[in-house]
Amino acid sequence: MIININTYSQEITKCYTTELINNELINNPDYKNEINNFFKQNKLWLSNYNQEKTTITIPIVVHVIYRQTHANLGIGTNIPNIQIEDQIRILNEDYSKTNSEFPNPPRNTFVNSAANPDIKFCLATTDPDGNPTTGVTRTLSTQNSFNYDTESNDMKRDATGGKDGWPPSQYLNIWVCDISNSGNTTILGYAYLPGLQSWNAWKDGLVVDFQHFGTIGNASSSSDGRTPTHEIGHFLGLNHTFAEQSGWSSPCVDAAGNLQCCDNDDSNVYDTPATDDVYYGNVNANTNNNTCNDILFGFSSDLLDMDENFMAYSNHTWMFSNDQVNEMIATLNGYRSNLKNSNVSINCTGIVSNSNIHFNKKIKLYPNPSKGRFIIEADNKIYNIEITDIIGNRIYKSSKQTNQEIDLNFVENGVYLININSGNQRITKKIIISK
Ligand SMILES: [Zn+2]
Repeated sequence: MIININTYSQEITKCYTTELINNELINNPDYKNEINNFFKQNKLWLSNYNQEKTTITIPIVVHVIYRQTHANLGIGTNIPNIQIEDQIRILNEDYSKTNSEFPNPPRNTFVNSAANPDIKFCLATTDPDGNPTTGVTRTLSTQNSFNYDTESNDMKRDATGGKDGWPPSQYLNIWVCDISNSGNTTILGYAYLPGLQSWNAWKDGLVVDFQHFGTIGNASSSSDGRTPTHEIGHFLGLNHTFAEQSGWSSPCVDAAGNLQCCDNDDSNVYDTPATDDVYYGNVNANTNNNTCNDILFGFSSDLLDMDENFMAYSNHTWMFSNDQVNEMIATLNGYRSNLKNSNVSINCTGIVSNSNIHFNKKIKLYPNPSKGRFIIEADNKIYNIEITDIIGNRIYKSSKQTNQEIDLNFVENGVYLININSGNQRITKKIIISK
């Protein structure tokens, strides 16, 4: 999501999805056909849809990508578990229509159009290798931050300072990192619409700025935790509800290039009114924007703009419409049915369980004390090892993914800290060097 500040007004563009897709289409024009096919597939499913709805459960993994100076868990980009838990709570409320705005939302204009997606997000408890996991990975990055425009997908690969995603057919990958240092604008998050071809599947998932993930811990005071709610909407096939200059499908512009009234849905969502601009303000009982005559867009009456929709940009959003929910359910029975049927084991308590002790037992470090050379053995895959002296100066780093012998013959006698990142935990052990 983008924050533009100019002399006259503050414009907040929250989400980079539209630009991300436009950029993808430059190098991968077939993606547009894939997106269109996806919407057609959903349309067909919806025309035959007559089942009772049941709760759909989706395994998630949160990849925290943190910078060198935030090595301690809970500091800066290395966000604390309570912040992750807060975001999971918000997602599960928003996707079950139990968010605090209901049953009496700040305005009741669309209270009868507000639907319950009945989708549950649970942390994965096994990783792709079958090892236990908390559903949270923590990766020390070579990057301080990621430029959303030029490094949109770098956080998704080990080789570019990020973390390889887990198979997107089984897990919803959510990368949380610093994407705020990108020129004049601040992006809050983005996600691809369904349709990435197999060779691009590694890009699938959400990217969310660490300050707009949850509302506590290291989240910005302006974060309402609705960025991931919005981005999962895209991930499940929803477009923005407002007119966009550069929409990937049918830009809402007239011959002179100015925004004009448009129903920016293109898909199977017919119940969100047309708009000719973007509303950034608050939504309350007195909000009465009505930028377009909806009768011209197939509605039986003219409606106010649905500024409270999660896929809008206003300051306060709280609902998905009936058609949006049906579209997301269709996606989970079509293009993303693998995710719906994923058999990954999960933890639905909303708590990041502490498997640290479990993991600790599986790490062997010997001999200790050591004359300089020692061996690290782990049952879990090791992603990187960093050794510091007692005041935090780094003296050694390795990203070998195997058991290994380390030689600290060059250091003075003393106690050193070994930080081991296994992909699901970061733990610290002490080694005594005595030559
Ligand atoms: Zn968006």
